[in-house]
Amino acid sequence: MNKRLCILFSIHLLLLVTAILSQHAKAEFYENARADQIYQKFEHVDYTEEQVNALLAEYKSIIANDDDVRQKLLVRLTCWNQPSATQEELTKAIQYAEAQLLIYAEPYPSEINTDLLLCLGYYKQYAGQIDGALKDLSTAISNAYQLESPRLIADGRSIRGDIQSYKGDYASALEDLITAQHLYEKLNITYWANDNLNNLATSYRRFGDPETAIKYQIKLEQTYLDSGLLIEADNVNVQIAFSLEELGRIDESTERFYKSLEFWRSQKDNNAVASTKVNIAGNYIKQGEIDKALTLLQQAEPDIPVEYEGQHSFMSLYFSKAYLAKNELDKALEYSQIASIDFKRGANRRGESQNLQLQSQIYFAKGDFENAYKSLSAFLEIHLWLDKQIMTDRNAEMQTRFNTDKILDENENLLKVSTDKELQLQIMQRNENLQIIIIILVAIILIIVSVFAYNQLKRKRKYQNLALTDELTRLSNRRAIYNLSENFIKQATLSRQPFSIILFDADHFKQVNDKFGHDVGDKVLMKLASLTMGMMRESDVVGRVGGEEFLILLPNISHNTAMDIAQRLVDCIANYDWSHIAPSLEQTVSAGVASLEDETELSPLLLKADSALYNAKSAGRNCVKSVKSPSANNEG
Ligand code: GH3
Ligand code: MG
Ligand code: MG
Repeated sequence: MNKRLCILFSIHLLLLVTAILSQHAKAEFYENARADQIYQKFEHVDYTEEQVNALLAEYKSIIANDDDVRQKLLVRLTCWNQPSATQEELTKAIQYAEAQLLIYAEPYPSEINTDLLLCLGYYKQYAGQIDGALKDLSTAISNAYQLESPRLIADGRSIRGDIQSYKGDYASALEDLITAQHLYEKLNITYWANDNLNNLATSYRRFGDPETAIKYQIKLEQTYLDSGLLIEADNVNVQIAFSLEELGRIDESTERFYKSLEFWRSQKDNNAVASTKVNIAGNYIKQGEIDKALTLLQQAEPDIPVEYEGQHSFMSLYFSKAYLAKNELDKALEYSQIASIDFKRGANRRGESQNLQLQSQIYFAKGDFENAYKSLSAFLEIHLWLDKQIMTDRNAEMQTRFNTDKILDENENLLKVSTDKELQLQIMQRNENLQIIIIILVAIILIIVSVFAYNQLKRKRKYQNLALTDELTRLSNRRAIYNLSENFIKQATLSRQPFSIILFDADHFKQVNDKFGHDVGDKVLMKLASLTMGMMRESDVVGRVGGEEFLILLPNISHNTAMDIAQRLVDCIANYDWSHIAPSLEQTVSAGVASLEDETELSPLLLKADSALYNAKSAGRNCVKSVKSPSANNEG
């Protein structure tokens, strides 16, 4: 494998692993930008039924069947967006929520069963099942705290707060609504933050704290103005004017009413214009500007029908007050009696109380002291009842004010925990991915390094072999055999074991080349090598030490045995059928044998063998000779 191939292989491996990893990630979470966009839409606007159905149908059609996360979100969205205008629709909505709760029933709180329980409580409230609603909502809220889900806590406490405010349980209402408000704002869920703020301000106004109400109302007005929701902004503006009026800041209040008047004139809504004029008249009466007030009331009267008892009651009350101020007592009494009917019809005890006080003043002015006394007694009765209510509410208010700091602290903690959790999850995910990438990179680097190292080793071995091997015959070359002989000689000397060598040379080899060509000559040399190797032991070494000259090292072989081996080799080569290589080719070799006596290295031993080989050539070739040595056996 070369370098380029190796890098290519690594890149492919990397790509493969990346592909597998991304596939793995996809299997866990589907990308679905459009579905997420639709889900977000539900957070921002209150849609019409057709819009809701279209959005839900699209959402359903584009999410995969095994996209568990979004399938659950679909169920939750469907629950919250059930039609709920009529009692019949509310019953169906409750049935839907209950059925889904059974499907997603689990022994522990989960996002979906908590949200479905909230949804159920929400519909029960509108169906008039207040106790059932409070029970479901409270269970859901406690589950939401277990899940540490700020969103579910906010939803639950906003709905429960609204119910408690309606019931008149202001302390609990405010605690819920303030908690929800803080959470919605921190979570940036503007639409529901505004909805909740509206409920919160209403609660404060209901229990007679216009100062706090105004704080929230001004905030809400700005929000609506910023989002271009002009009708909602005007509604809040009027609420602010009422709060200012109650605070005695009459001029500011009147200014706001005039702003509203301009708005409704531009909208060409005559009833709204008339109703606003009544409100302004109320302020003028308080300031003693009776004529101004009467003009406005008279302008308003034709556009305020009796059916609108709220508007009609106050218009009549203000008429009565204005006429009393002008000492037109009969007219004053007449309007006061109309107002009385209106207030009773609308169950407005605050208005009724004001009207009774006014009536007693009219009777007093008329000199009708009996009726004056009766009206005053009725006024006192209602007034005492209202005072008692307000006392209870003040206690509740003090309680809630005290708790607000605690609520904010708790919420901060909750939000921190939930953001920490998210962060931790992200970091863990990122670390996991990083670890996988590092492992892969290290593996790839290891593979590359190993491949390179292996190649290097192979190349080194190859060069080493080349340096010690004869290229044609693959036998050890002169250098290698000299090196090896040193060890053999040392070993033999130390262990007093015999050591012999055979030097042999191809006879008349020049003629082979001349007659058959150099190629045949090469083939003969290779055959000589393989024939020799075939006859030797594992421990013997055969080498090519000249053009057609070979040397065999024979450890532990005595001179006589070496002579035998040499003879067998010469015979074997002579008897070999060389015509395989070239027709009529014949080849013999001559050999000289020498054995170790007192030599300490190869050269003198080789000299002896060479001399013996010379003798063999001289003796006519195709034979074996050895050089006589004084201590060795003589053979010839
Ligand atoms: P003798 O019996 O006396 O040894 O005669 P000879 O012809 O074998 O000896 P000589 O030294 O005259 O010739 C050796 C020849 O071997 C000369 C050379 O061309 C040939 N030779 C040497 N190395 C190679 C080789 O690698 N391949 C081939 N084909 N021939 C070689
Ligand atoms: Mg020769
Ligand atoms: Mg030779």
